[in-house]
Amino acid sequence: MSIEFLSRLFEPMAVSIESSSSRGARNPDGIGRCEILAALNAAEHRSPDGADCIKAQYMGDLHAMKRLLAKFPENAVLSVIGMLTNQQKLLSLYKRHNPFGRREAKRARELEVIGKQELAEQVRQRIAERCLRDTQGGICPACNGTGELQKPKPHDCPNCRDGKVEPPTLTQDERHAEAGLLWMYGDAAQAFYSRVVSERAA
Ligand SMILES: [Zn+2]
Repeated sequence: MSIEFLSRLFEPMAVSIESSSSRGARNPDGIGRCEILAALNAAEHRSPDGADCIKAQYMGDLHAMKRLLAKFPENAVLSVIGMLTNQQKLLSLYKRHNPFGRREAKRARELEVIGKQELAEQVRQRIAERCLRDTQGGICPACNGTGELQKPKPHDCPNCRDGKVEPPTLTQDERHAEAGLLWMYGDAAQAFYSRVVSERAA
């Protein structure tokens, strides 16, 4: 079973589950809300941690995310659900190269100088939030994901590889945890998938 197929299956899930008012509404794949919930149940039954990976990755479920982070190393969890990025490097590039990031970082420094620490902190928080949104998937703020800088003359961006800032390398322990999680994720995904197939056949 391909991961791509699973993504197509899971992508509409959040929408289907949220639109509880439109009972019986079906996504283009012909799977309704009830079927998805039943399939999620099956996945949970097979592997609770694996089901939490599915929910964290495809439904933005923060509770599932918290449960995973309480049990497994953060980098392993983020890697498994495709969210491992080098956030610190992205943020520092964002403050140097993104127009909003640069302007607001300057404002935060100025606020700090005149003793408005709290306001400065709020501004920094906003920069971090915008950075998280604008650099999803590790898009390099210096070259905007093109992998090339234009000034003074076109050259390869020194901050990234092909427009992406590489995620940090996992330690051996984190790799080990990642492998275990991937195994459970696969189990849960398989249970989910078989349930959907049997629902369709019914
Ligand atoms: Zn770059």
